[in-house]
Amino acid sequence: MAMQKSPWIWMDGAFVPWDDANVHVLAHGLHYGFGVFEGIRAYQRADGRSAVFRLREHMQRFCDSARIMTLPLAYDVDTLIAAVLETCSKNKLASCYIRPIAFCGYGALGVGTLDNPTQVAIAAWPWGAYLGEEGLKNGVRIKTSTFSRPHVNSQLHKGKVSGHYVNSILAKREALAEGYSEALLLDTNGYVSEATGENVFAVTGSTLWTAPFSGPILSGITRHTLMTLAKEEGFEVRETMLTRDTLYLADEVFMCGTAAELTPVREIDRRVIGKGSRGPITERLQARYFDVVKGADDKHDQWLSFYDLET
Ligand code: PMP
Repeated sequence: MAMQKSPWIWMDGAFVPWDDANVHVLAHGLHYGFGVFEGIRAYQRADGRSAVFRLREHMQRFCDSARIMTLPLAYDVDTLIAAVLETCSKNKLASCYIRPIAFCGYGALGVGTLDNPTQVAIAAWPWGAYLGEEGLKNGVRIKTSTFSRPHVNSQLHKGKVSGHYVNSILAKREALAEGYSEALLLDTNGYVSEATGENVFAVTGSTLWTAPFSGPILSGITRHTLMTLAKEEGFEVRETMLTRDTLYLADEVFMCGTAAELTPVREIDRRVIGKGSRGPITERLQARYFDVVKGADDKHDQWLSFYDLET
C-alpha cells in the first residue's frame, strides 16, 4: 500500500513539496547504504493535543549514529528537534510517523568517498499499526531466521544505519514468504538478538528478560520505555543472553519498537507461546504504553514534545 503523502518535507534546511524531495540517482548513500535514520511517532493525546514521543532521545541517537559512522552532520540535536516539530506542525499532522534521514549525497562514487555533501531530510506522514491492529490484540506468529545478526565487530549496532537493514530485509522477506509476520534474529553465537525492526522480551512469572545492551541490538527507545514502565509496575527486568528455547518456554513474548509499538508474539517456529494469545503482563504493559504515548498519563511529560497544528 502506498504511503499517504503530506504536503511538505524538510530537506537540507528548507521545506520542499513532497513530490520535489528527490535526490540524484548517483547519490553515494543509495549505492552503499551510507546513511543513518530514525523512526519516531507523534500521537494525538486524550486531551486533543499532539506530542512527539521521546523526540530528544531519537534525535540524540540520530546524531550518535552519524558520529559513530563518521558521517558529517551540519545540524545539532536542538536544530533537528525544532525541524521535526515544524514538519509535524506545517503538515497539520495530529498523529504521524516521522522519518529523519541523513545520507552521503551526490559527488564522487567510490566506497571511500570523503567529500560528498551529507543530505538531511525529515518526512512525516500518517501510519497505522506496523504489524496490524489484529497483531496488537491477538499477537503474531514469528520464525527464527536462517540469517544471523552480524558479529558485533562487523556492524555498529548502536547506530541506526541504512545499510544495516539489508540483513533485516533478508530475514523479513524470508519470514513473510513463509507466512510469518516477523523474523527473530540470533547473533553469531546463537543467542537471541532482536527482530528485524523491534527488540524482543520474554516474560516468566513476574520477570521480564531481554537481550543485553552489549549485544548486537539497537538500543531501542521503546525497549527503554517499557523497562521503565515494567519497573514502575513492580516487575523485575533482566538483561541477559537468551537462547531460543528460553523464548519457546516463556509465559509470554512480545516485540517492541516505535513502529510496531508493543506487539505480542503468540507463536515462534510453530511452538505456541504460553496460552497462544496476548498474555496478561503484555496486555498490562501495552495499556500503560498507550496511556503514556497517547492517553492521559501525565507522569511522563518529559517524554513528550508538544506542537501546535498550523492553521
Ligand atoms: N531494533 C531494530 C533493528 C530497529 O530497527 C528498531 C526500530 N528503530 C528497534 C530495534 C526498536 O527501536 P525503537 O524502540 O527505538 O524504535
